[in-house]
Amino acid sequence: MQKLRLFIAVILLGFTGVCFSSEVTVVSHPLVQHKLTIMRQKETGPLEFRRLLREISAFLLYESTRNLSVEPISIETPVSPCTMPTLSGKKLCLASILRAGNGLLEGVLELVPAAKVAHLGFYRDPQTLKAVQYYAKMPTEMENRDVLIVDPMLATGNTAIAAISLLKESSPLSIRFMCLVAAPEGIKNLQKAHPDVDIITAAVDSHLNEKGYIVPGLGDAGDRIYGTR
Ligand code: URA
Repeated sequence: MQKLRLFIAVILLGFTGVCFSSEVTVVSHPLVQHKLTIMRQKETGPLEFRRLLREISAFLLYESTRNLSVEPISIETPVSPCTMPTLSGKKLCLASILRAGNGLLEGVLELVPAAKVAHLGFYRDPQTLKAVQYYAKMPTEMENRDVLIVDPMLATGNTAIAAISLLKESSPLSIRFMCLVAAPEGIKNLQKAHPDVDIITAAVDSHLNEKGYIVPGLGDAGDRIYGTR
């Protein structure tokens, strides 16, 4: 019965032309949720905020890099020769969306120090909430790299969409988007614009307010990281 239902659903989806969109992974590990709750609190200062962000980034990276390909190499342990897996292909490209992305980047780079880094500068026009690009610097040979975008907040999705469009001009092998907190509106917009880009987040919050902030969120991530206002 179960199999029949699944079969009918697949047939119906095929007929109606509905296309599958990207995967959203919420990293609901208790340690991540605990640390994120402390980060959300307005009393948490930049020093602690940065430390927690660095710690959470390890969990997010673990999920975000699940699909990296590996190849066998021959090695010798002190006990015997053997064949063991190692990461294959060109190095990963981490794409940090300035400036808050750099807060996540720090922790991620500690775990994958050989990764290349792209810096993409966007600011949100406060009136339109549209993303305006002001900087882009990418590694060479992007066409041979898997890209992991790091940006703590997926709010309207406008910046993420613009950054992904820019990255796609260099034809990378794949693109994934890693964030700390996402709004349902941002997820929907991003999946519509780039259905091939998977999203990894520690939380999906309630909604966006009229200023484009995630509710309850944690405020302006850049300000929380760097102690600005
Ligand atoms: N950017 C932030 O830093 N915080 C939000 O809530 C939304 C966008």
